[in-house]
Amino acid sequence: MKLIPTAAPFVLTHSRKVPDAAWMRSVDALLVMLREDQLAVLGNLPGGAALARERDRLQCKVGGQFAATLGTLHPVRVVVALLPPDAAAFRVLTQAARMVREIAAARPARVGLFALDGTTMASGTSASEAMLAALLAATESRPHAKQSPPAEWRPSHVHVAGPGDLATTVAVETAAHLARWLTQLPPNVLYPTTYRRTLATLARRHGWRITVHDERALRRLGAGAFLAVARGSAGRDAALVHLQYRPKGPGAKGRAPVALVGKGLCFDTGGHDIKTARSMLNMHGDMAGSAVALATLRALTAIEYPHPVDAWLAIAENRIGPDAYTQQDVVTAADGTTIQVTHTDAEGRMVLADTLAIASRTKPACIVDFATLTGSCVTALTERMSGVFTNFSPLRDVLEAAGRESGERVWTLPMPEDFDEDLDSPTADIAQCLLDGKGDHIYASRFLSRFVGAGIPWVHVDLSAAERTGGLAHVPTPMTGFGVRFATRLLASPAFLGAIHPERARR
Ligand SMILES: [Zn+2]
Repeated sequence: MKLIPTAAPFVLTHSRKVPDAAWMRSVDALLVMLREDQLAVLGNLPGGAALARERDRLQCKVGGQFAATLGTLHPVRVVVALLPPDAAAFRVLTQAARMVREIAAARPARVGLFALDGTTMASGTSASEAMLAALLAATESRPHAKQSPPAEWRPSHVHVAGPGDLATTVAVETAAHLARWLTQLPPNVLYPTTYRRTLATLARRHGWRITVHDERALRRLGAGAFLAVARGSAGRDAALVHLQYRPKGPGAKGRAPVALVGKGLCFDTGGHDIKTARSMLNMHGDMAGSAVALATLRALTAIEYPHPVDAWLAIAENRIGPDAYTQQDVVTAADGTTIQVTHTDAEGRMVLADTLAIASRTKPACIVDFATLTGSCVTALTERMSGVFTNFSPLRDVLEAAGRESGERVWTLPMPEDFDEDLDSPTADIAQCLLDGKGDHIYASRFLSRFVGAGIPWVHVDLSAAERTGGLAHVPTPMTGFGVRFATRLLASPAFLGAIHPERARR
């Protein structure tokens, strides 16, 4: 199994004109996304009269879709979806996935996508972008070791007629594919040693500076919380990997980077407080946070993001073994805080504590961390959206807007100070967690906030939507790659940049 996916190349063309007969001859399938009041444009399409008849016959309503085959010499399967005028990005992406499913069985080589200006004014994601994202996500390669490979479908040509930033869509979905690929890899394929090798390859390919803090270096940094988790792995290959993207041009010199932090547990047994088989089954996906941080860095690199960005990936496993950490251990984190271990399955906040403390030393403009951290966040929000926490209230609306516009929805959860009382420890500065699961996502955020350097705006994303049976929005795979669209949108948002660099916004 390859560690890095290769994407089959395809030809992408883009125009804003209503498709004519020649354009229609260049496709085998066509997806059309319209608002109800834009329906008249169907009449301008070659074969449009037949489409309009079909729509009347099927009495397709807003929110629905219908399909028809046009032409006889060169049949084109056309799927038309009707959107409500205020459709949010999540809705548009979900509809786009339904449209792609309609043509998937025929595996067309040449796919056309058509939408009009202003199809989705409320959403921030245009209909053309949503259809392209859904097509890419549905046809991306997936890791397998089957002797007879499953039939894959990837169009050779995609012709888009409609508004949208297609280059960014391709960059973001290609990056999200990397996140999904890594998250799907079996734990005996992707483990800290091979993950580190993969990161070195990607760093070379994308021009990132890479620094690997292995166990020896982590000891020098005083990262006792991180090392406590790593103790159970015989491979001794855990590491904190620091990647740095610096934009070209002199403008970025001396500017503080945004730091993306990711939890990268390649497998989580729960440690001595071991999980049951059902809860442990998909714990190779417990590195999703690191994959999202990495993939976001890759998307930002591809779109030539004009600001510096760092990624800090906490790569480890949580295993059982003679040296594995245990309840009641007291360990010292990189910032000097002592921690009483209360549950070995709360390893994510241990590796993140040191990662946040070490990243804070570089004085980033903002820290955004991603982690599949708590079951209670899933209980609170389900797998349909993810929870966000921040120590910097001006970011709350900015975070939720990025969620709405990207279609990866987030909700700001509270983290009141008085919760700290419950984390008082008889033996250390702070207890790792409570054994009672209620509100664990809030306690985890309180715990983590302690390790963020003074005055640094910080966002914690608890990835409850990292894995969902049946996929989510435009993504058909259970490992959703949730967070890449959200984070790319967030970092590109003028409101975000204005909030974390107030002095530049004022200028
Ligand atoms: Zn765990």
